Amino acid sequence: MLGLMQDQPLLISSLIEFAARHHANAEIVSRRVEGDLHRTTYREAAARARQVANALDRLDVPFGDRVATLAWNGYRHFELYFGVSGSGRVLHTLNPRLAPDQVVWIANHAEDRVLCFDMTFLPLIKAVWKNCTTVRHWVALCDAGALPADTGIEGLVSYEEWIAPQSTTYDWPQFDEKSAASLCYTSGTTGNPKGALYSHRSTVLHAYGAALPDSMGLSARDSILPVVPMFHVNAWGLPYVAAMTGAKLVFPGAALDGKSVYELIEGEGVTMAAGVPTVWLGLLNHMAPAGLRFSKLNRTVIGGSACPPAMISAFKDQYGVTVLHAWGMTEMSPLGTVCTLKLPQQALPPQQQMAVLVKQGRAVYGVEMKIVDPDGGELPWDGQSSGDLYVKGPWIICGYFKGEGGDPLVGGWFPTGDVATIDPDGFMQITDRSKDVIKSGGEWISSIDIENIAMAHPAVAMAACIGVRHPKWDERPLLVVVLKPGAQVTREALLAFYDGKVAKWQVPDDVAFVDAIPLGATGKMQKMKLREQFKDHRLPTA
Ligand code: AMP
Repeated sequence: MLGLMQDQPLLISSLIEFAARHHANAEIVSRRVEGDLHRTTYREAAARARQVANALDRLDVPFGDRVATLAWNGYRHFELYFGVSGSGRVLHTLNPRLAPDQVVWIANHAEDRVLCFDMTFLPLIKAVWKNCTTVRHWVALCDAGALPADTGIEGLVSYEEWIAPQSTTYDWPQFDEKSAASLCYTSGTTGNPKGALYSHRSTVLHAYGAALPDSMGLSARDSILPVVPMFHVNAWGLPYVAAMTGAKLVFPGAALDGKSVYELIEGEGVTMAAGVPTVWLGLLNHMAPAGLRFSKLNRTVIGGSACPPAMISAFKDQYGVTVLHAWGMTEMSPLGTVCTLKLPQQALPPQQQMAVLVKQGRAVYGVEMKIVDPDGGELPWDGQSSGDLYVKGPWIICGYFKGEGGDPLVGGWFPTGDVATIDPDGFMQITDRSKDVIKSGGEWISSIDIENIAMAHPAVAMAACIGVRHPKWDERPLLVVVLKPGAQVTREALLAFYDGKVAKWQVPDDVAFVDAIPLGATGKMQKMKLREQFKDHRLPTA
């Protein structure tokens, strides 16, 4: 047929080449594990990504084989993103927060061929390298001089030594855009971790979606700080979006404390930063006592777990920063929804706007959503009916790597395990998780709501709400709380804090004060462990 469009595959190599050509001098700034700030540009990063591709060709790593990273957010990791995937290998980002045995299990399951790691993780690599049975080449992300001579690790080279002899020119191969590009294992709350395998097509389409004004709204006028790790769903796709838009990139390395993040935001004129709520809590706690302000930051993308409304207000009212509350999953590349107001909502009074902004938001084009009842029947978008949230779209998995866990789809839809409402304007709000819900007398109680209220109490540092068996109601909510250092509050005072905020029957039956709440490798509260810990907890009788 005459007159059709060119058949140009959507490949990750095209992103870095676009950045090198159109935004050659845009900066990539990294706080290195050594502590200093490193500065480079897209021109230089593209040249070094081509060196990585040449180096992998030299090692004879076959097309589609996995090249793993165990690294913080930084320029070398960024170069690997493009050099590995662009040349047709699969970038496998390992999560260094996992226990050594889990890292070994995942590396073996993925059949990683090469493993590139930050020097921070040298002790971990020394402990596990012999058990990683498929890895042939170990690359330390450092200069030759920084590598100790006696690591004992066979086949270990420094990154700089590895790429230095390679040419900075490379003909990126053209191949099917549906080829695998990168691999990320989910935190796996049940069973073994499972891999989400992203394609070139899904990655590029996701980057388009994430860059849209009502998503993260990124442009060549932005300076982006991805605090979200590059080992967690590709830092929410930000490295690809940055290359697509030519935004300045600022990488925090290993320093994720409030002071370091604040200094980087101010020092590098960061306009947009992205991360999970815990990080922003650290930042706000650092800023408030010292009366610090932001000079350029105008928005933060907060997701990964529910952003407490108190945090959204603190950013807006005290710092003039818009929180973009976002929701997604590893299985969704990860972006599903982002919360931004529509035109008519801009005229609403602040309180009504806030009622919208605390929701997880509207679907990005490319993501279809529906909520269903236990029989799979579709529920109305009335903002009241809550049901299991199902999604589908071109950047959502259709199955896990190697077919683990069988076919996860239900009639072509991916069940997220989240429970949500969707209002008539399409704003989705997570009310709970099907794997983590409290059902009392046949009625749902949102553990997230209960936690958010507790988090707004000045004495509370962290709160988790779990269901505890109850003879009459089946389950009743127990609030597990970690207090801020030096803070005090009684059980009665904390429960009284719920007066008027939720229905009486939704108020937790009891409070357990603990020193720490168990967190998973990605910083999420491990409710299963908590439920186990409190399975014999005796609730006071009313
Ligand atoms: P992960 O695959 O580790 O990113 O976890 C995805 C899950 O985290 C989702 O299915 C949700 O349960 C939860 N999650 C992510 N973002 C949010 C959010 N903004 N609010 C509430 N839960 C979230």
